[in-house]
Amino acid sequence: MTKNDNIYPIFDSMLSRRDKEELLGQHSVMVWFTGLSGSGKSTIAIALERELHKRGLLCRILDGDNIRSGINRNLGFSAEDRVENIRRIAEVSKLFIDTGIITIAAFISPGNDIRQMAADIIGRENFLEIYVSTPLEECERRDVKGLYARARRGEIKDFTGVSAPFDVPASPALTLDTSVLTLEECVNRLLELVLPKIQKREI
Ligand code: ADP
Repeated sequence: MTKNDNIYPIFDSMLSRRDKEELLGQHSVMVWFTGLSGSGKSTIAIALERELHKRGLLCRILDGDNIRSGINRNLGFSAEDRVENIRRIAEVSKLFIDTGIITIAAFISPGNDIRQMAADIIGRENFLEIYVSTPLEECERRDVKGLYARARRGEIKDFTGVSAPFDVPASPALTLDTSVLTLEECVNRLLELVLPKIQKREI
């Protein structure tokens, strides 16, 4: 018996995304929110997750709280670190997608370049870019975390929308302006887009 006779290809390959999707009874997809601070990304992400969960669909939200305090806690806000922040988020998202899980990311991700990098890592066919287009004036009026006031006082530099640019996405899958739409309307539009892609058809 040669050494090769001991290799059983069927047993030594990892189960595939398709196997996991089969187990979960769903198709995975990346829902990638982009928009200014306070535009509504996290609020909509949380409401979307609840609606999908109610329908028996397994999701994972990635946001500033669980990423910046954990896997990316060694990163700051330099240009280099912002790219690395998104690169790691995209790699982690890919692991969830490959596990069959509907993955929802809520990060400002202000540049076309970093969003493209994320889409390339995750796979364009999996990537739904959702632009939360709430105007700066409205985000600043809400000033949920008091960050705009601090940025205007010069206490935070390179703050997106105030002292750092935001590239408007060229062709998002969906645009949601929360100064015009209610939270429920935002979620309903998302469900219309996402449900046909993630619900498994009965065979
Ligand atoms: P981001 O994650 O983009 O920084 P947040 O979700 O933390 O934004 O904050 C958005 C704020 O806007 C919340 O206080 C939320 O209650 C408020 N808001 C008002 N209308 C809407 C809406 N239609 N959709 C989402 N958020 C809304």
